[in-house]
Amino acid sequence: MKNYNAKLKIFTSSKLVFLPDLIHGFTTRHTDIQQLLVGTIIFPHQVHGNTVQAITSQSLVNYSQAADALVTNKINIAIGVKTADCVPILLYEPVSRIIAAVHAGWKGTVQRIVEWTIDTMKSLGGQPSNIIVSFGPSIGMCCYNVPNERAEQFIDEFGTDHQLLSEIEGKLHLNLAYANYKQLLVAGVSAEHIDYSLVCTSCQNDLFYSYRKEKEKLSEEVISFIQLLRN
Ligand SMILES: [Zn+2]
Repeated sequence: MKNYNAKLKIFTSSKLVFLPDLIHGFTTRHTDIQQLLVGTIIFPHQVHGNTVQAITSQSLVNYSQAADALVTNKINIAIGVKTADCVPILLYEPVSRIIAAVHAGWKGTVQRIVEWTIDTMKSLGGQPSNIIVSFGPSIGMCCYNVPNERAEQFIDEFGTDHQLLSEIEGKLHLNLAYANYKQLLVAGVSAEHIDYSLVCTSCQNDLFYSYRKEKEKLSEEVISFIQLLRN
């Protein structure tokens, strides 16, 4: 479940918000980034691939490579991704204290960016069964019709499933978040640990940014961020 923080004008996840050693959120059109209780947010240089960048020392903070997910076990480093329809996903492993922020567009999703992210968290000592996840605002199945060849790529990768693909008014619609949700389960994350409550960026364009809805008028993107605090 997502909750609206009226002071910061961001959404937070009920799965993550009560953890005392963590800050996270999903921005809206009304968020003043300067008001967020985080330092500078580190973003990957997003390229719609499946590369995961791990920040394991302070010296790597300024090291920017092409990547679509960031993972860190360092405190006081805010990591984030920018999206406008693509799926933002925040992950937290509370035992080994590892966080991740993922940008999953359709290309990254087919290339299993979420599973690669969990692999990286495991390489830092994380256990998938401990990981808590929240999906952020992304284009809903309601508003995401796709060409046949893209639909076929998803069937090849994730199987036929009416939750993944559905025909709406004669057009194939894809549930991009669901393909990522399936990857989390394959990787060993418990369904009970996943905040899969979805908000559509196009339907709720008054709150969020949507490339499909706004096209060249798109001026900003949703920022999904997470930061470990000293515990
Ligand atoms: Zn929609």
